[in-house]
Amino acid sequence: MRVADPENTITQQIELLRLLREGPRTRRNLSDSSGYSISLVRQHMQVLEANGLVVDDGKMTSDTRGRPSTRWSVDPDACLAVGLDVGGISMRIVAVDARGETLYRSTAPTPIAPTGDDLLRTLGVFVLSAFNALGTRRAFIRGLGISFSGFVDAQLGLSLDAANIVAAQQLPLQTYFHETIGVPIIVEDSSRAMAIAQMRYGAARGLQNFITINVGAGIGTGVVINGYLYRGDGGLAGELGHIPMLPDGAVCRCGSQGCLETLSSGSAIAARAQFQLEQSTPSLLHNLCHRRPETVTTLMVTNAARVGDKLAVEVLTEAGDWLGMATATAINLYSPRIVVFTGGVMRSNDLFLNIVEDAARRYILRQLPQPFPMVLSTLDDYEAALGAATLVIDHEFGQGFAQRLAAQSYELQLS
Ligand SMILES: [Zn+2]
Repeated sequence: MRVADPENTITQQIELLRLLREGPRTRRNLSDSSGYSISLVRQHMQVLEANGLVVDDGKMTSDTRGRPSTRWSVDPDACLAVGLDVGGISMRIVAVDARGETLYRSTAPTPIAPTGDDLLRTLGVFVLSAFNALGTRRAFIRGLGISFSGFVDAQLGLSLDAANIVAAQQLPLQTYFHETIGVPIIVEDSSRAMAIAQMRYGAARGLQNFITINVGAGIGTGVVINGYLYRGDGGLAGELGHIPMLPDGAVCRCGSQGCLETLSSGSAIAARAQFQLEQSTPSLLHNLCHRRPETVTTLMVTNAARVGDKLAVEVLTEAGDWLGMATATAINLYSPRIVVFTGGVMRSNDLFLNIVEDAARRYILRQLPQPFPMVLSTLDDYEAALGAATLVIDHEFGQGFAQRLAAQSYELQLS
């Protein structure tokens, strides 16, 4: 008699679950895609259903023989995840089910807290509101993903420093939330969380190699290589905002000088426009900011540039040229399939994208596909929160479900 190897069995079940994650399928379809026999797929589906991981999705007519065939789906409650995104201005939270459907979302201003402990407590209240909103389904939450602006140590679960968030230095996010909520916590840099959202729901869906460039108050990058987010040995891979562009340039928040961020970020664009306005350079922007140059935003600069305002066009072109050079550097370095631009400055900003693209094309290797695809994110500003929640779901579709299935089969052996 052939005895099934439990480890191999679970590997096969996880593979079937991953196929179902892409959408409902019949047994025959699962068998065709996996190479497992129909009867083996049937056995696996029984186990997965008994473990609450898949559901019979009703009947559908099978393609060739016209026989009705059961369609299987991932059980939405197989795992729920909450994703928190803490940015310089706003924080956002989402709860999603195992199929990636949004169950809850909410936003609030990022707290200005006197100490790290106060900041953690306020974030904690915000997170709990999402947990409570799920009612009894809260029991299915398998983890909290946290996307944090600035520099993050994903391994230790710390915010190291965030220039735009008060009291964010050495903030023990993972420890605090694990102790107060009692679910697994994944902490990630916000640009990398955005890359995860792009890979599953956005312009990079299904792609194995791509880059997202997040342009907001700062500039960050998520680099995905062979389907995996690349963090690097020190955990800070993808800090495109801090590649040196201009010798003896302005001092950057990282302590260095002339970084890309000092030239092309939202803060840099606003600062450049403000400086010119203070020199009384003629511009529509004087009216747009009600003659208060310190309140100029990238959006105002973009709107003025759209109607041909000379100062706004110059400021945006200068920032876009530098960003284009840096983008070409990233493309020549990693040879991605596409580059997705996202973040507050880029989102829906086709004007800025055109400037960046024009500049980048001058420096991209001619041997690479032309025109090289550079696109804007189509996801909304919950992108990083969604990516953080997706990190938890991704973990479940890998090790999490495997551990649950292993524990179940161990219990069966004991009984
Ligand atoms: Zn820097």
